[in-house]
Amino acid sequence: MTGMARHITRAVKVGTVIVGGGAPVVVQSMTNTDTADVAGTVAQVEQLWQAGSEVVRLTVNTLEAARGVVQIRERLDARGCSVPLVGDFHFNGHKLLAEVPECGIALAKLRINPGNVGHGSADPFAQLIAFACRHDKAVRIGVNWGSLDQRLLARLMDENAQRAQPLDNAAIMQEALLTSALESAQRAEALGLGRDRIILSCKLSGVQDLVRAYRELARRCDYALHLGLTEAGIGSKGIVASAAALAILLNEGIGDTIRVSLTPKPDEPRTLEVQVAQEILQTVGLRAFTPLVTACPGCGRTTSTVFQALADQIQSWLRAQMPVWRAQYPGVEAMSVAVMGCVVNGPGESKHANIGISLPGSNEVPVAPVYEDGVKTVTLKGDAIASEFQALVAAYVERTYGRS
Ligand code: SF4
Repeated sequence: MTGMARHITRAVKVGTVIVGGGAPVVVQSMTNTDTADVAGTVAQVEQLWQAGSEVVRLTVNTLEAARGVVQIRERLDARGCSVPLVGDFHFNGHKLLAEVPECGIALAKLRINPGNVGHGSADPFAQLIAFACRHDKAVRIGVNWGSLDQRLLARLMDENAQRAQPLDNAAIMQEALLTSALESAQRAEALGLGRDRIILSCKLSGVQDLVRAYRELARRCDYALHLGLTEAGIGSKGIVASAAALAILLNEGIGDTIRVSLTPKPDEPRTLEVQVAQEILQTVGLRAFTPLVTACPGCGRTTSTVFQALADQIQSWLRAQMPVWRAQYPGVEAMSVAVMGCVVNGPGESKHANIGISLPGSNEVPVAPVYEDGVKTVTLKGDAIASEFQALVAAYVERTYGRS
């Protein structure tokens, strides 16, 4: 992994997972089931966990959802799924926890949004922090520009108007987000919550805005930081925007946990956001999760889709092996596999990978040389190239990463 300098923050325990303090950047996700639907939520949490989500957040918006959290935790534990759960509270969190304290006890972290936690003599924020202190829970103070504290924004607007050279609206908006997060964190500390229990986030939906906000947040504090582009969007737009924003910040050493907020297409699994988060971390060289396939895009030199199918098949097969391989073959997650379409770049790219294959392009001899650790080991031909190459990859993994 790369040796980039990390912005060092306070380490926060979220159940059994450490966020910040130089620990590996944690992948998290959020369910989109109704939390009151216990069976459906348990199933989705398990899917997200099996896909690699190290922390999973649930909506807690009603009494039924709060009661559901208790059963969800019990059922997950009974199934051997120990993933820490986070409760997402808005508007009525203090009331729900007063009514169903077992819900908060079952959670590893409470997410509070200062913009909609509520004000008034009941002081909902103080109640939530008191609960976290009492039960030794982590808290994410999660500010979102879509639900910014309007009283704070009005105050900063007024102060800005008094300036000799007032800032523009975008700068005020950013300042309001940062101030909301930092003042809330300071208040939580004053109420007794340790610095090692606080995680901050400041989410926006614009890539440049998000980068500016987090750079400034990192400059001003050492709280653990949760990164994410809010409302990233659907399909490639959401993936590209999230990757662009998070990669810049991660490459600068900023960020202790990430979530990729994708809107799944109707036929897409929720787990796609976990896969994308892992691939961002692996691509920037911070962590390795699954061997990645290097494949060329294909061009006029390839007359068939054979190599596209093989690249897809090998990547899917590698991903499917990981739940078993992770324990059986330590280090395999960093392996690189090349699947190339012709001899122009094929052999060269194959030599750089741990194992690679170069399929024949049009007008080339119909053979496929295979390279292992930079050396040509075999040349495949015929109709069974795909299955034979897969078997070679399996043998390479056993030989290279097996414990014996
Ligand atoms: S490796 Fe060959 S098939 Fe693939 S893009 Fe390059 S020239 Fe085209």
